[in-house]
Amino acid sequence: MSQQILILAGDGIGPEIMAAAERVLEKINQQFNLGLSWSHGLMGGCAIDAHGVPLPDVTLEAAQKADAILLGAVGGPKWDQIERSIRPERGLLKIRSALNLFANLRPAILYPQLADASSLKPEIVAGLDLLIVRELTGGIYFGQPRGIRELENGEKQGFNTDVYSESEIRRIARVAFDMARLRGSRVCSVDKANVLEVTELWKQTVTALQQSDYPDIELSHLYVDNAAMQLVKAPKQFDVMVTGNLFGDILSDEAAMLTGSIGMLPSASLDEHGKGMYEPCHGSAPDIAGQNIANPLATILSVAMMLRYTFKAEAAAKAIEAAVGKVLDQGLRTGDIMSAGMTRVGTDAMGDAVVAALG
Ligand code: NAD
Repeated sequence: MSQQILILAGDGIGPEIMAAAERVLEKINQQFNLGLSWSHGLMGGCAIDAHGVPLPDVTLEAAQKADAILLGAVGGPKWDQIERSIRPERGLLKIRSALNLFANLRPAILYPQLADASSLKPEIVAGLDLLIVRELTGGIYFGQPRGIRELENGEKQGFNTDVYSESEIRRIARVAFDMARLRGSRVCSVDKANVLEVTELWKQTVTALQQSDYPDIELSHLYVDNAAMQLVKAPKQFDVMVTGNLFGDILSDEAAMLTGSIGMLPSASLDEHGKGMYEPCHGSAPDIAGQNIANPLATILSVAMMLRYTFKAEAAAKAIEAAVGKVLDQGLRTGDIMSAGMTRVGTDAMGDAVVAALG
């Protein structure tokens, strides 16, 4: 039976960038005879409009059957005021949790052609190749109890719970150590162990796993505030960074911005068996939706990650990454990565250029 992909284009620029990525997927599927087939579903604001909920059962069932999910982006101002429990972002949290996609891989790679796009000096960022491994289904985003309660004096109080068990810490640390073995063999674990007990356990557990199972990997630890500073001061010191859900959310966006454009960065969220959801790091960019100006490369590079991690088609993944390098060499740029002397193109044209570069 062929391998199945569920495509969820989502909201805002989602349908535009996904259309470009789908053309790349069609081409690579033929070229490498991958035997992939795919179908489409609704998640996010578009699902709220059609079904009243951000993750309809029919979408969740299709996602459970699929081998991989390719997601555009969800959300937008249209759904910002609706009841919190059915907002688009809840669909995202629910699908990650239902599919047990606990490991979020976010590479921050600076293409040499785009070194000027970074707000940091080129010598500090040129050649940056960092992987952030973020725990995605635990921690404070899911911990109970949570809510907003009224105190005896009538004042309201918001509260959340940050919680990690040893097994949750071990499985995400294992992903980070395994990834480091394929790269520079260094892992930096980020915590706030001086203040938060939950991250004191995090630090102890990661250290014990390294000592027992990964003596070949160099492990270091940073408090999250220092990690945030080091990322802008000397980002190239890092190989793999591993951290919990909340810190990872913030640090991975910071790392993304080091590269100058969030429109270039893919991500993967994996379960224990290699099934994954692949999506660009950016959101639905409602400010530029429907104008054919969004950068589709992060979504196209997410297709490459999908081929690499779920379908084990390394050569096809590399071919897509090389094709992206080729269009950048040709001087083609969407508005977000535009610089003097380059040729500005729209979403469709950028997608077509990658298809053409595949040969
Ligand atoms: P955003 O990433 O959508 O946009 C931030 C800025 O980057 C905007 O100026 C946007 O125009 C620009 N940008 C983003 N992607 C781009 C691309 N591919 N090409 C060119 N420019 C691009 O973040 P935001 O504005 O904070 O959020 C907008 C909506 O997206 C919100 O509803 C938010 O909840 C949602 N969101 C969804 C996801 C997701 O689906 N995984 C992630 C983050 C935010």
